[in-house]
Amino acid sequence: MAARKKRGRKKNGRPHRAGQFRKGQKPWNKGLDLMQVKAISSYRRPTEDQEGLYVNKDRAGNILQNDTETLNEVGRTMVLRPTKLAGSRIARFLGKKVDSDEVEGYRIWHAKTAVRACARAQRDHDKHQPDCEGLVRLSFKGEIKKGLATVETLVCDTCKYASPKRKFYTEAKRPGPGAKIAVPNLAVQIAMFNSPIGVRVLREMAAALDLPVPSKSGLQRMANRYSDLMVKKNEDDMETWRETIYDIHLQKGNPPGSGIPAEIDTRYQTPLRSARGKKPGQPSPNSVTSLAENVTPKKLALAVHVRNKICPTRNLNEGRGKPVPAHKCPANIPEEAVIGDEKQAARDVAKKMLSGRRKTPVGQLVEDGDSSSSKGFKEVMMEETGQKVTAFKDIVHLGKGVRNRVTTTKWSKEMFPGQDQLERNRVRDRFGNDLCKRLNTEHKLARKRFPQKKKMAAKMKQVMEAIPYCYAGDHDRCVAGSLVCRHPRKWKFKDLPAKARENITPSSADLKLLQKIMEHRLGKTALKKTRCGRTTNKVESLNRQIGKACPKNVLRSRTFAGRVASAVHSSNNGTGMSIAQKRAAANIPLSPNSAVVSGLEGMDREQKYQRAYKMEVPNKIRQQAKTTTRFAAYDIRKEQGTYKSKVVTGKSKGKGKGRGKGKAVRKNTEHSYSRDAEEESPDTYSSDEE
Ligand SMILES: [Zn+2]
Ligand SMILES: [Zn+2]
Ligand SMILES: [Zn+2]
Repeated sequence: MAARKKRGRKKNGRPHRAGQFRKGQKPWNKGLDLMQVKAISSYRRPTEDQEGLYVNKDRAGNILQNDTETLNEVGRTMVLRPTKLAGSRIARFLGKKVDSDEVEGYRIWHAKTAVRACARAQRDHDKHQPDCEGLVRLSFKGEIKKGLATVETLVCDTCKYASPKRKFYTEAKRPGPGAKIAVPNLAVQIAMFNSPIGVRVLREMAAALDLPVPSKSGLQRMANRYSDLMVKKNEDDMETWRETIYDIHLQKGNPPGSGIPAEIDTRYQTPLRSARGKKPGQPSPNSVTSLAENVTPKKLALAVHVRNKICPTRNLNEGRGKPVPAHKCPANIPEEAVIGDEKQAARDVAKKMLSGRRKTPVGQLVEDGDSSSSKGFKEVMMEETGQKVTAFKDIVHLGKGVRNRVTTTKWSKEMFPGQDQLERNRVRDRFGNDLCKRLNTEHKLARKRFPQKKKMAAKMKQVMEAIPYCYAGDHDRCVAGSLVCRHPRKWKFKDLPAKARENITPSSADLKLLQKIMEHRLGKTALKKTRCGRTTNKVESLNRQIGKACPKNVLRSRTFAGRVASAVHSSNNGTGMSIAQKRAAANIPLSPNSAVVSGLEGMDREQKYQRAYKMEVPNKIRQQAKTTTRFAAYDIRKEQGTYKSKVVTGKSKGKGKGRGKGKAVRKNTEHSYSRDAEEESPDTYSSDEE
């Protein structure tokens, strides 16, 4: 100690420290090369509040050494120890605290209980102190916080009366041992699991509302407990739905034991292609595979399977080199497992479908174009019930494939009209959109008219032959070949810019390429996989709903399954009904007389209305017309704006070919938001998303 002090005082030959020094610490610059330190020309003593503007400190209060540069750059300024200020920054802002026993701010109390407790305390006071005229008030010192709820003591200032402590909340009944839970603390979990917010945001909200701020650990503990409860509740709920759906399946005249039609899809926390190089193995820490029935128009979710790699408890302890304690592990697959293994995920979903009181076999399964879910599903169904599963591909994904292929194919220069490559590329992409719609429409009409596979395939062959000429403005083949473009009604080429309509001129090489692309949608194999024209829209809309409770930018492990379950329950039962059921499941049922009931009813009504509105054909048509108008307006703006952009691209082309090209491509990419959503989401369930 003494030696250090001595060294600190030494000034002979040693340069001054370019920083502040705290008593009893090593000089921050010990062992550093100090040759470059310039003579100090000025001193600065910041206040505590401003200190962060000069230096960064570690948790112990030492200046971070890698910040010396900042200090040196400040140059000859030496930052002295800050002036100490009284109280915290916030306290200084809000003003001085006065000595008071009053309860300030707002509280969440059970209305009836709180008022009764107050009245009772006053009566009690009057009885014991008949001479005292005082009124009882809440005591800050006598208040105990229980998360969001409080226990209160009522006191009288005049006679020093103090009531016994009273719970201003009701408690949830709990079957097992342990302390009873205040209702608001459980109810807030229901609210949290229905939304993207987590513990931290909830605390911020409580603070902003001037409510007692619940502790992080308390909220987390409750969240863990509620998560498990929610998973169980949703599993039971889906099992009940499975029975109901199967009954309807039978009512429709299907023989007992026959499989239901369904769709399946997997959602990942992060897209599998991203984050290469940042994490070992596949990037997504979890996946949710869900299956929705196609028996009823509601298309309810009947099975959900969560795969999760991350266990915070294990990571934390292994990181510190400690043994991992016994815990409820949220990870259900090893870290090295392939998260994108949709086959395995589908196997697990299939097993869930066959579990419970009654087995629910699946006979037809729609999946994404690139998915291998149906393979795993087929295996399990065959092993356990002998049920054969026919796999179909989602037509929306196939359509997207057509669009992408149009964009990535190398066409001849003459195929698309346009002044420059930029404009031609724009027409090309729009041609992709239009072609995709055209193929969908032809297929849709053909499904109605040609139920036999053979005739259908032959007709579609004709269609594919006619289409290229149709886009060129030659409709001779359309009469016999097309189901859409027939005299006097013509295909309108709505997605194309006005001047490209009937003005696309493929060369013979282009024709071959185009043929190949169309085969992916209307070729023999494609037709076999799309016979019913089904989509995976419902499961994808469910994925979006799951996204509401499990946003992709927040990684949750312990409560992830619970949040997924909460979202699925909302989707299956409607938001309002779901909340009521969740309260009941948590043993805190809502009173039938509660003012909330009409609110919940309103939510369900609104959802029903939104859904119906979107399904109504005139509204769908109007929506499509709107998109077309927007595209047309975009074309006009683009044409007016090209004068300027042409100059720019001309310049960059002159400088270097590669650069100009890169720029052009990027500029030309149409944003996903401007893509038409035709057939993509006829029954999107977005009313619940904000
Ligand atoms: Zn009194
Ligand atoms: Zn674990
Ligand atoms: Zn035509």
